[in-house]
Amino acid sequence: MICGAEYGLDETMYVCPRHGAAGILDVVYDYDLIRARLNRASLAKNRDYSLWRYLPVLPIAEPHLVPPLHIGWTPLYHAHRLGARLGLPHLYIKDDGRNPTASLKDRASAIAITRAREMGWQVITAASTGNAASSLAGLAASVGLTTYIFVPETAPQAKVAQLLIFGANVIMVRGTYDQAYDLCLLASDEYGWYSRNTAYNPYLSEGKKTAALEICEQLQWQPPDKLFVAVGDGCIIGGLWKGLRDAYALGLIERMPQLIGVQAEGSSVLARAWVAGGETVEPHPATTLADSIAVGMPRDAIKALRAVRQTGGEYITVSDDEILEAMRVLAREEGVFGEPAGVAGLAGLLKMRQQGRLDPAERVVVLVTGNGLKDVQSAMRATRKPHIVEPTAEDLRRLLQKLTTATGA
Ligand SMILES: *Cc1c(COP(=O)(O)O)cnc(C)c1O
Repeated sequence: MICGAEYGLDETMYVCPRHGAAGILDVVYDYDLIRARLNRASLAKNRDYSLWRYLPVLPIAEPHLVPPLHIGWTPLYHAHRLGARLGLPHLYIKDDGRNPTASLKDRASAIAITRAREMGWQVITAASTGNAASSLAGLAASVGLTTYIFVPETAPQAKVAQLLIFGANVIMVRGTYDQAYDLCLLASDEYGWYSRNTAYNPYLSEGKKTAALEICEQLQWQPPDKLFVAVGDGCIIGGLWKGLRDAYALGLIERMPQLIGVQAEGSSVLARAWVAGGETVEPHPATTLADSIAVGMPRDAIKALRAVRQTGGEYITVSDDEILEAMRVLAREEGVFGEPAGVAGLAGLLKMRQQGRLDPAERVVVLVTGNGLKDVQSAMRATRKPHIVEPTAEDLRRLLQKLTTATGA
């Protein structure tokens, strides 16, 4: 993405040899060739309702090696209740918490696992705030690969539980995600493990882009005006942009939605770089309860900033309280339970709406990136306490009396 040099699949494994770890690659396709195999008509007939329906634009040579778990084609809900309250009748929620390990990261791990198997790797490693790790561990388990996973000590318990139950070798780092990431790159070099590290392995965005392709297809190829998504390292938003570029190049869509990147106030390196107007980022220690986007040194900055600039979108930031509010709103008004980072995109939409910057005529999609059960502690912070009764009829009646008079129900 820096110098524009092109390499064949067997010429480099991860990054541009000229630019080292900063030289993020972008997979290039021959769209003229692919158009004959991937078009509106072929997709309308395709009964594979998973991310593999977009196989012609995925970097996979041996489809029989894809993991067996069901990944992608997650539901896109027309958010009637929330949309009505907000005065946004064309609001949609895509729930990517509905993937096998409960986050969008499964889309990326699916490609990494398949690439690893194609190349004959037995051991895969990744550093992660939690979801990339649990996703890699789960998908690796489904095909019998060994994983070494680096997570910060602060990773939510449910995500660590996923790692352990899937049989990963879990290395918990007394430090930040950024430090875990550096250790993992070192280990991958030293021990010869295949690396599924964000913005290092170029195939991850190729998996993540399928969420954008699905959104366009689920909206009958009428893309939304705006697409809101949480941003940490920037790989998801860069991937969505790639999916949209693919769809455009293949003639599946006729215009590009604006990508709106939403960061937590305490982890807003990309939002700041965007305001400053450049492509250089200033690392800054991250503090937010939304652990999946707590990133002090965004690894996919170039793609993430270009995604927003070239689609005419923007970056906005939201506070942790606004994220907790979005968790409540999404759960109570749409029945979708997202983890804090999972709903940060919605928090951004709520904020923009409040600022009067969204037009009721606009068609808007919010991508929910992870399920709320991954971080129950934050959910408990977002909500009220349960009512407690003695196991007696009198006590129950006393409570219900109080509740029904309080709500006037
Ligand atoms: C990883 C993740 C993000 C952020 O994705 P980036 O590619 O790091 O920007 C957002 N939400 C959830 C739930 C995630 O797991």
